[in-house]
Amino acid sequence: MVGENLIKKGLITPEQLQEVLQIKQQNPTRKLLDILYDKNYISKDNFLRELAQELKVKYISSLDNISLTKIKVPVTILKQVRAIPIDIKLDRVLIASENPLDWNAKSYFQRFFPDAKLEFVLAHKEDIDKVLKLLENKEQINKLKHEIKRELRGEEVPGEESAVIRLIKFIIKSSIDQHASDIHIEPTQKGAIIRIRIYGTLYEKWDLDEDVYNAVASRIKLEAGMDVSEKRKPQDGGFSMELDKNHFDFRVSSLPTVWGESIVIRILDKRNIVKSINTIGISPQNLEYLRAALKKPNGIFLVTGPTGSGKTTTLYASLHEVAGIDKKVITVEDPVEYKLDGIQQVQVNPKAGLTFAGALRSILRQDPDIIMIGEIRDIETLEIAIKAALTGHLVLSTLHTNDAISAVSRMIDMGAEPYMVAAALVGVEAQRLVKKNCPYCLAPYKPSDAYLEPIKHLIKKDTVFYKGRGCEKCNMTGYIGRTLISEIFLVDEKLESLIAKNKDKTELGEYLKSKGYKNMFYDGLRKALNKETSLEEIYRVAKL
Ligand SMILES: [Zn+2]
Repeated sequence: MVGENLIKKGLITPEQLQEVLQIKQQNPTRKLLDILYDKNYISKDNFLRELAQELKVKYISSLDNISLTKIKVPVTILKQVRAIPIDIKLDRVLIASENPLDWNAKSYFQRFFPDAKLEFVLAHKEDIDKVLKLLENKEQINKLKHEIKRELRGEEVPGEESAVIRLIKFIIKSSIDQHASDIHIEPTQKGAIIRIRIYGTLYEKWDLDEDVYNAVASRIKLEAGMDVSEKRKPQDGGFSMELDKNHFDFRVSSLPTVWGESIVIRILDKRNIVKSINTIGISPQNLEYLRAALKKPNGIFLVTGPTGSGKTTTLYASLHEVAGIDKKVITVEDPVEYKLDGIQQVQVNPKAGLTFAGALRSILRQDPDIIMIGEIRDIETLEIAIKAALTGHLVLSTLHTNDAISAVSRMIDMGAEPYMVAAALVGVEAQRLVKKNCPYCLAPYKPSDAYLEPIKHLIKKDTVFYKGRGCEKCNMTGYIGRTLISEIFLVDEKLESLIAKNKDKTELGEYLKSKGYKNMFYDGLRKALNKETSLEEIYRVAKL
């Protein structure tokens, strides 16, 4: 009896077996192990080991590292038999299958590999699905590449648009579907590889032969309004495209490298512009602080964090919160990423002599109530920002610092007088982006001890953490979208005097802690306990 055995091995409890047997009574065709796995009572590895033992076959615990290039069997057939040849040799072919005893699959594969001995191993259906999807994608892109080669030879290829355009659209659409922010087309000795950035991490997705890469690169440059024949100088450009009735803008840049032009396409997804500060993911307590800071009539409020931490989104959402018909808002940005209604946006242009500092001086003559400075990079900009803050303007800007408290010393290190910083600063927020758990495949899991040990004094002993297991909706990653974790402090009288006295970071931190200040790790932990993200994500971006 499978169930009894599992109890004996300590994999499940008698109560769990009882529950699962009841489910099986209503669905007699379902396998006990399948139900146990779906209820998350056993891990994928245990599922595979137990089932393999029952079927007397070997199993493979992951298909992540198999090479897709050698698989020549049409995907339609693989989809039918739910199996994938993973190691193909002349006399022997290893096949990973959801059902390794399926005779039907055997006869199919024997036709493809007539001289080989077939060996079937068990694989999990989720892993099979993942590979099938990748293969389908590859088949489609290969067809397009083939058509481009025919076009390059001057042959007529059917289709409303040229194959080059269809391939570019395929790459862009596929990248957007996977929630990518950038597409990197990077030349190599033999052609090019295409990597896409998803939630901050680069993934290699496709490769192109040299002739196809040249055709694609030229076409993108043409669409982006760049000089196609100029290949030795970096260029910038952009284009727009309708995909599935959504409008997308793309910013394109090219950079000459030894193997050719590296092309990066940034996807400016208007659907991603956050309109309201309620929806950017900031936790309720920190939102309250942020709102209080934005209500101040004057002073500097800073959003800090590394590149790609969502600072711009928070700034735009903040502007949206404070802008109104009775307020004049001017921004100076480099570059203007999104055009907003009712706000005067100025693009910095150093070539034309319009620097951050220069633009700011002109802006002050335009009688604004609120000024947003894309980033404070130099003392000149900082001094004007402080002056503006002390003369009745609310100034919002960003700084590159690791945490909120460091913003104070950063400004002083840049050359600002401590008493000026103290007088001007109203508050600082620091933030990071974390991936959000996919709601469609969310399941409880046990983080490793390395993650649990440091926080055991902060959580209850039987605390359960959640993360996505990977499904069609989240491209098997377990995550969909991102949210932010943050820390924020406002400058009160006491803190103002500490800053004016040029007290160091530790002392400022101690004062804030005495008033209940919590760093962003705590904010993140709260979100992990709320099932919004995984514990790993918090450790990835924040320190306890
Ligand atoms: Zn999912």
